[in-house]
Amino acid sequence: MSAKIISGTEIARVVREELNERVAILARSAVLPGLATVMVGDDPASRLYVGMKNRAAAEAGIHSRQLTLPATADQDDLLETIAALNADDAIHGILVQLPLPRQMDASRVLLAIDPSKDVDGFHPTNLGRLATGDVDVLAPCTPKGVMEMLARSGVDPAGKRAVVVGRSNIVGKPMALLLLNANATISVAHRRTVDLGALTRTAEILVVAVGRPKTIVADMVKPGATVVDVGTNRVDDPSRERGYRVVGDVDFEAVSEVASAITPVPGGVGPMTIAMLLANTVESALRRARKRW
Ligand code: NAP
Repeated sequence: MSAKIISGTEIARVVREELNERVAILARSAVLPGLATVMVGDDPASRLYVGMKNRAAAEAGIHSRQLTLPATADQDDLLETIAALNADDAIHGILVQLPLPRQMDASRVLLAIDPSKDVDGFHPTNLGRLATGDVDVLAPCTPKGVMEMLARSGVDPAGKRAVVVGRSNIVGKPMALLLLNANATISVAHRRTVDLGALTRTAEILVVAVGRPKTIVADMVKPGATVVDVGTNRVDDPSRERGYRVVGDVDFEAVSEVASAITPVPGGVGPMTIAMLLANTVESALRRARKRW
């Protein structure tokens, strides 16, 4: 069997077109969604990600404001910046780019963001709401993007057996909660899981978020499963100009012969993550506007 490719690039394009329409509707009521990205220091990878997010925001008609604090800034400086953004009516989404320098406690910083502006969906209030089955919550962008890909590919998790490999707070755990809220029967695997293959072979929907190439090979996949590869790994490739290529956690070629649908890397979950950041920002703007209307 050769699996259907679920293209995140294509789905994200459609989602972003739909968002443009929503932004245009808001503009008619003089509401301009605003996203603030906060970076501490000058880590090149963080700069690249923040740049991509700001460009995507601008393309969607979202006003974006980038704030960069020096690497020497202390936690109080960052907390003050967040407090000012929380109070700023022009800002509907606040994103603090992780990782933060050593002198800062990321969990305290995330806690300081107004949950209604937490467009990354990392605030414990929002994760708690997700855990209680609240469907209106601002959910973390990557797992939310996976749910959107499933929905738009005609894969309904209800009644299906879903396995999530990885249990991080930003991907694996919220992914499992979103699937559970969509009425899948879920299992979550991690490093201490015994016989990972036996578990993953039970999955009709398999989501992999580990950070290690070829964690999932063909004989670990149930024939006909839908496989979503969240992993983003750089592997050396001297034939490429940059000297590396990006691969996921799944052995794509071999698993494509077993699964019925699969997401590629790149061009899979990655573009959806940014689209969901924009969607959360527009949603937050819409909610604030509704309070005034
Ligand atoms: P993370 O915080 O490092 O978590 C990795 C998880 O994988 C952990 O729960 C770990 O288990 C589990 N794990 C590691 N090796 C395993 C193994 N051999 N068998 C079973 N479980 C194993 O990573 P993350 O932030 O969730 O990200 C995961 C991957 O997704 C990374 O490649 C990251 O770059 C990528 N990612 C992509 C996007 C996107 O937009 N495409 C967004 C976010 C992340 P323990 O808990 O037991 O250690």
